[in-house]
Amino acid sequence: MIGCSCPVCVSADPRDQRLRSSIWIRSEQTSLVVDAGPDFRTQMLRTSVRSLDAILLTHAHKDHIAGLDDVRAYNHFQQRPMALYADPRTEEAVRRDFYYAFSDTKYPGTPDIDLFTIRDEPFSVGDIPVMPIRVMHLRMPVLGFRFGDFTYITDANFIEESELDKIRGSRVLVLNALRKEKHLSHFTLSEAIQLAQSLEVPTVYFTHISHQLGQQAVIDAELPPGFQLAYDGLEIRLT
Ligand SMILES: [Zn+2]
Ligand SMILES: [Zn+2]
Ligand SMILES: [Zn+2]
Repeated sequence: MIGCSCPVCVSADPRDQRLRSSIWIRSEQTSLVVDAGPDFRTQMLRTSVRSLDAILLTHAHKDHIAGLDDVRAYNHFQQRPMALYADPRTEEAVRRDFYYAFSDTKYPGTPDIDLFTIRDEPFSVGDIPVMPIRVMHLRMPVLGFRFGDFTYITDANFIEESELDKIRGSRVLVLNALRKEKHLSHFTLSEAIQLAQSLEVPTVYFTHISHQLGQQAVIDAELPPGFQLAYDGLEIRLT
């Protein structure tokens, strides 16, 4: 957090230095990221993501879309538009916030984006199967995604029973857990633990973590077996 000197913000543990939430998914043929927040450029540079076939958006909050302008680098090297998958509501916000990328008279060097609308049904990006999951962020619908045995959910504070069914059977679940204190639109740590336990997913990582939650080493030690905080640079292999 800018200007903060709490134990997390001054921690020497690199896992306590968190950029905005995003994941990179790679298969044999396909490379995609979920969300492109303000740190997108830094994340792509830091992880050396040389090729990117698509970006999937969970919702239109700025910490999830603000970095979209930087797809220009991929446009340049891949010589094609970036495929962007979003639900109609998020698509509308992207068209508004990045209007210059969608105007008829495009200025050279503006981002080149192909929008694909996500409906309530599974789809594929290259060889990666994607099942959209509808979760609630206070009153705002947000998309979570299941990719085979792996489910990624961020910015939720409520999930309907029919959507929970789509998560059941996952081997790995990434779920948002902001902090310990109650929050209007995000699961707290205990709410996230309870939900994950009820879904019986064996391996659970928490994401979208506030500096208010506490240091990685301290919180990890409090978590039930199979549960841990995600951290920047964490790699999960599903074979
Ligand atoms: Zn802090
Ligand atoms: Zn949000
Ligand atoms: Zn967020």
